[in-house]
Amino acid sequence: MSLTFENIKKTKSNLNYPSQLFINGKYQKSISEKSFENISPIDGSIVNQVFFAEQEDIDLAVSKAKETFNKGYWSNLSPGERKKILLKFAILLERDRLELSLLDTIDMGKTINDTYNADLPTSIDNIEWYAEIIDKLFDDISPSSKEYLGLITKEPIGVVAAIVPWNYPLWMAIWKIAPALITGNSVILKPAEQSPMSAIKIGSLLSEAGVPDGVFSVLPGDGPITGKSLCLHNDIDCVAFTGSGEVGKLVLQYSGQSNMKRVQLECGGKSPNIIFADCDDLDRAAEASAYAIFGNQGEVCSAGSRLIIQKDIEKDFINKVVQLSKKMQPSDPLNPDSFAGAIVNTEQLEKIHKYVNIGKKEGADIEVGGNITMKETGGCYFEPTIFKNVKNNMKIAQEEIFGPVLTTLAFSNFEEAVSIANDSEYGLAAGVWTNDINKAIRASREIRAGTVYINNYEEGVDSTIPLGGYKQSGIGRDNGSQALENYLQVKSTWIKIT
Ligand code: NAD
Repeated sequence: MSLTFENIKKTKSNLNYPSQLFINGKYQKSISEKSFENISPIDGSIVNQVFFAEQEDIDLAVSKAKETFNKGYWSNLSPGERKKILLKFAILLERDRLELSLLDTIDMGKTINDTYNADLPTSIDNIEWYAEIIDKLFDDISPSSKEYLGLITKEPIGVVAAIVPWNYPLWMAIWKIAPALITGNSVILKPAEQSPMSAIKIGSLLSEAGVPDGVFSVLPGDGPITGKSLCLHNDIDCVAFTGSGEVGKLVLQYSGQSNMKRVQLECGGKSPNIIFADCDDLDRAAEASAYAIFGNQGEVCSAGSRLIIQKDIEKDFINKVVQLSKKMQPSDPLNPDSFAGAIVNTEQLEKIHKYVNIGKKEGADIEVGGNITMKETGGCYFEPTIFKNVKNNMKIAQEEIFGPVLTTLAFSNFEEAVSIANDSEYGLAAGVWTNDINKAIRASREIRAGTVYINNYEEGVDSTIPLGGYKQSGIGRDNGSQALENYLQVKSTWIKIT
């Protein structure tokens, strides 16, 4: 189906807004019937009341997940059998692609173009990739002495809680649940309270694909109650978390306070994007740099939020990005031609505005933007904003703003560029633009970040390439065969040969 005004209107008019918990293959209200208001940042309207999972609901979902895991309904299927079911799930996501895209757009305000043409296809690709790889992996036999046969095998870890953020609601969930399910685990998904609907919807799609009841649950709710209770639960074996560093640190503590469950963390970033004067296509670099901070309203963990420019070209390069930013203004998220949409909620909008004011007080200068916009819609929108004359020790250069706010800094030589890039508590991603291959490789080696983009910035996402952080950007990796390790135990079996 192509993305036209007519298709969007027709699908939206028949849209069902999911609101219930999904436990043991069924939708149900929370036991206490407590619910929360789900508000769309597009226009501030209340979309629906979503049921709120508390301890009793969590205990029920976890006991079903543990029971199905122990009985082996899913965990003991062959990898080839699980593959067929997840491939069917991918087909169902394609079937319901526009519906799921609309749920995410309405929930968190990103454009329908992004959800339909980026989030959904990449989620589907991710599921297909994990489904296809799993029956091509072999275990090991150790090179031990002839008296023994040493088998090194991998086993699912058990019950996995996936706790995810709102910036790519379905996509971030799929990054956890595809590798966790394909390796045979039971999975409990807790979506962010700002964007629960697509997560709830996929419960029934996984059942329809053939995942046995109890293996997959969805528990909407907030962080301090639902998220925390999951992290402290003694029958959960692993928490796979994507979100802020602040909450990531709490998740580690909860693990220590309970059963020492495994924790995988994908946290925030303040990623440097370095433009050397010898880059041979500064127009392309400017376009990618603008996209790297204004795409998805800047609500991207690996956004290129610190643009570090060689002094000789600083003024001209900033000017190019300023011109591009004017074409990246937010507009109606449901219009398929919009580049950017709404900020997720008023809290996040105010946070962005607060940082802009902090930047001004710190002595940085606004080159363009800096304001809340489209107030007449009742929704949450912020102008693409560019600061110049930023020092790297300013808050706006150190703290994750998670909005369309670019800080620009200048450098004189290679060493200074790398030193500014590394002067951050984060280490998620970095960009390097140069025509000198030696400089590019040296920069890639010296920058302490999980991903380094050379002469591109996040132009493509590929399920085969792992993504994750150095330093306080996280522990472990999503994507690639590396993500499978998050959800597997290693079993060593010694067989005595007599
Ligand atoms: P957040 O940390 O506030 O929330 C993330 C999830 O954790 C939500 O589901 C929330 O309900 C839950 N949570 C909150 N408090 C909790 C608690 N005490 N115990 C357990 N769970 C709790 O983050 P957010 O605002 O939803 O998302 C933005 C953050 O996510 C940014 O920092 C961004 O960089 C990060 N992020 C990282 C990646 C990555 O791949 N590294 C990808 C996307 C987003």
